Parts: sequence; C-alpha cells; structure tokens
Amino acid sequence: MRKKIVAGNWKMHKTLPETEVLIKELRELVDTENKVSVIIAPTFVNLTSAVNLAKGSDITVAAQNMHFEDAGAYTGEISADMLQVIEVNTVILGHSERRAYFCETDDILKLKAIQAYKKGMTNIFCVGEKLAERKENKHFEIVEKQLINALFTLPAEAFEKIVIAYEPVWAIGTGETASPEQAQEMHQFIRKVVEAQYGKSVADKLRILYGGSVKPGNAKEIFSKPDVDGGLIGGAALQAKDFNAIIEAGKS
Ligand code: PEP
Repeated sequence: MRKKIVAGNWKMHKTLPETEVLIKELRELVDTENKVSVIIAPTFVNLTSAVNLAKGSDITVAAQNMHFEDAGAYTGEISADMLQVIEVNTVILGHSERRAYFCETDDILKLKAIQAYKKGMTNIFCVGEKLAERKENKHFEIVEKQLINALFTLPAEAFEKIVIAYEPVWAIGTGETASPEQAQEMHQFIRKVVEAQYGKSVADKLRILYGGSVKPGNAKEIFSKPDVDGGLIGGAALQAKDFNAIIEAGKS
C-alpha cells in the first residue's frame, strides 16, 4: 500500500510573516496519524524559517526549483547544496509554470533530475499536457515524452526518491479539474510507462500525485482512485483550513 502525499506548492505567495502564520496554523490543525505525508514548498527566502517552524511536526519542507550545477556563475539560482545545508531535501522539478515562463525544457529538467538523484534528494517531478494537446488527443504521448526525456536515463534505484505529479496544465489555477476518471486514466498510463522501462516493483511503489484545482470538495473523490497517491496543491494550500481538509481526504 502506497502512503499518500499531500504537497502544497506555495509558488510566489506568502511573505515571511505570512509564512510563519500559515505554518503555525498548520501545526495546530494537521494530524496525519501517520497516514499521509505532508509537504509544503514555500519560496526560497523563507525556507530556513519554514524548516525551523516545521521542526518536530509531520510537515516536510520542499523547494520549488533548483539549478542542476553544484555551484557557479548562475545569477539568481539556487543549488542542491544550498538547500541541503538548510535541511531541505525535497524539490519540485518541472512545474508547468517553470516550463512555460522560465523556458525549462526536457533537456534542462533531465539535468536537474540527475542532480536531485546524485544529491539524494526527493524529486517531485511534474508532467502534464496543455489544453490544445488534450483536445488533439495527444495527452498520453506528451506525458510519456516528458517522462522518457527527463527521467529515463536514471537507474531504477533513482525511483525510490521520485514522485510524479500529473498536472494537466489546463487544470492548474483555473478552477477546472480533471475528472477523477481522467486522472485515474493518466495515472494508470504513467505507471504502465514506468513499468515498461523499470519493471513492476518500481512502478508499484511509485507515488503519482494529481495536481490541478484540487479543493476540499473534490479531493476525496480524486484520491479514491487506485492510481492516485495524493495531490500537489496550489491555491488551496495557502489556507490552513483548506489544506488540512485535503490532508484529511488523503487519510481514507
Ligand atoms: C499547482 O500549481 O501545482 C496547482 C496544482 O495549482 P492549483 O491547485 O491552484 O490548480
């Protein structure tokens, strides 16, 4: 049985004081009963505080991105070592906003995935098709390519620290959600693609999260699907009550 993950991507939201308030609220509300892994990804400048505030709780702190090089002349970038020194060992890679607004290609993401593997970091790797691609019935092909291009040069053992987040771009921040059936269909497909490359035991253990307008009202139904192992949450992760309700939905 795969333990569910509920991860909150805070994006470019929450100042330091707001971060402190939200983590304090979450600490009061969240009781995972060891049934759900909870992750939050605040912005870089607030990671140190977030790690300290989350200490002793069930909440793991993740970064929203990182560079693929160890160090160097990369103005504005953050390295794996910089994250790990502040006890951040989980990173979201390939979010569709990084792909769309910061030109992150499969080739760049491949290097980032290799770096996460080399550093022993958990990589929450995002894939997902755009609306036009789904309308043209190309969604399976697109997601398969994203997986193969960025991840499939890694050895099987790398998958112990990879979590896939399927996030159809048309459902992110739009209020549109993939139906639970659409999510299940894609998650099952992703598992099959991983199985074909790495075998059944790797595929069976792989956690595949759904992301795209998950809210307290729809989380339970989406999470009830057999290949949906939790969610990557944007907007609803910014309110403690809503995020906790989604965590609760992950318990059953
Ligand atoms: C996301 O950005 O990863 C996301 C799923 O956002 P939202 O929940 O707001 O659609």
